[in-house]
Amino acid sequence: MNATGSVIVPPAVPVLPVLGTQATFPVRRIYCIGRNYAAHAIEMGHDPDREPPFFFQKNPDNIDTSGRFPYPVKTGDVHHEIELVVALKTGGTNIPVEGALDHVFGYGVGLDMTRRDLQAEAKKLGRPWEIAKAFEHSAPMGPLVPAERIGHPQAGRVTLSVNGTLRQEGDLNQLIWKVPEMIAYLSDFFELAPGDLIMSGTPSGVGAVERGDVMEGAIAGVGELRVEVV
Ligand code: MN
Repeated sequence: MNATGSVIVPPAVPVLPVLGTQATFPVRRIYCIGRNYAAHAIEMGHDPDREPPFFFQKNPDNIDTSGRFPYPVKTGDVHHEIELVVALKTGGTNIPVEGALDHVFGYGVGLDMTRRDLQAEAKKLGRPWEIAKAFEHSAPMGPLVPAERIGHPQAGRVTLSVNGTLRQEGDLNQLIWKVPEMIAYLSDFFELAPGDLIMSGTPSGVGAVERGDVMEGAIAGVGELRVEVV
């Protein structure tokens, strides 16, 4: 046993910076919603109708705020997915849609980096998605911006460029499941808590990156994110 009373060195709690402050936001869980923009659902071969949302998780320690994304092992087809990140300051279960936004601390810009080849194989075999979604450095993120400062964005252009060429484009007003609906739905299945993040899905135009590529994401009214693939 060491000085902390643990038999190993306790793992660090991953944190996100809070824009314009010295404060950090400690992260407990990362929930990700799938197929939340109709045009992306169609490009992935699915019906864009408003079927119930589905979620998967990334690991909090997959977050990387360094601006560098190491090309992952065991894939030859890693894709960018630009997403609005929602950060919760309070939680609970069975949260009503009305008032769900009161649980939001703020928003950020993130990338749900995906080993698309391994995801396709997992889908085909009916296997879980962790090896495609929840790997090291798979969640590049920028700082959080408090809702106190920017409110709760209902609309705003969402873009991702690679080496200056626009790849993904959408608008927050195209989200099939809106932020309060995502919070309410998740809280029926999980006990949400302070420190939870929700990655809200990606617009169409996902695609592969290679070492040396520079990804530049932006969400109007929220922020920007620049990540180099190394
Ligand atoms: Mn995604």
